[in-house]
Amino acid sequence: MRLARYRLNGTQGVAAARADGTFYGLSTDDEHFPGDIDELIAQGPDALASAIETILKGKPVDLEKALLLPPLAHPGKILCIGLNYADHSAEFDAQVPDYPVVFGRFPSGLIGHGDAIERPKVSDKLDYEGEFVAVIGKRGKHIAPDDALSHVMGYSLFNDVSVRDYQMRTPQWTVGKNFDRSGPFGPWLMTADELPAGCKGLRLQTRLNGVTVQDASTDDMIFDVATLVATLSSAFTLEPGDIIVTGTPSGVGGARKPPLWMKDGDVVEIELEGLGTLRNSIRDE
Ligand code: MG
Repeated sequence: MRLARYRLNGTQGVAAARADGTFYGLSTDDEHFPGDIDELIAQGPDALASAIETILKGKPVDLEKALLLPPLAHPGKILCIGLNYADHSAEFDAQVPDYPVVFGRFPSGLIGHGDAIERPKVSDKLDYEGEFVAVIGKRGKHIAPDDALSHVMGYSLFNDVSVRDYQMRTPQWTVGKNFDRSGPFGPWLMTADELPAGCKGLRLQTRLNGVTVQDASTDDMIFDVATLVATLSSAFTLEPGDIIVTGTPSGVGGARKPPLWMKDGDVVEIELEGLGTLRNSIRDE
């Protein structure tokens, strides 16, 4: 099941895809509006399933005409994993980590599919990082690796856009990973039942202006989804609506010679086989 949040004619709504691929939705001003996706996930799988049935009885929604919003409005935690593909660690001359490199993002930087990433005034070193996202659906602490995927309710895509000079300016990456409008997330959330367990064996690609710049298999991840869920949950309770942004493979612009930075007017696409494509343009601040 694909679930999306959108804004159309000034009104926000939630949509779900029927078997034929067409989206049906309900807007916030509809009396049957079941709540935002964050709230539905927090209420648990039964409430979510029942809400999806309600959403599917809504009106057809042409997502081409709508502005897509991030699939979750307010993820409680945005846990991003750095250097999670060996070839990407190598291109930055970094050691392959023996414990996940974790940094945080703030929800304020999130944008949806089709919206514009902002190239900030203070830097021209704007880079792409194609990644997929695991969305937590069930609360847990000290989750066993064997049970970890039962805590993941779905997947989406993320462009972990990085302002490289600010990222590398200090040992902490937080500033360079949290500029305004630097967190494209979407286009929708796909429930886990429609994808291989842990998104294993899928092709992950990034294209800049139609040219493929990253192309890898999710099998190349150092820490797979189950390991990430188990490891992170040993430190803090994972809650429904938390997301794990799972890391990017090699091919980022800053590691190229010469470097390849995104600029005003560019279009960047992240595609995960079986899930869809997240597309955004770039505009100057
Ligand atoms: Mg990244």
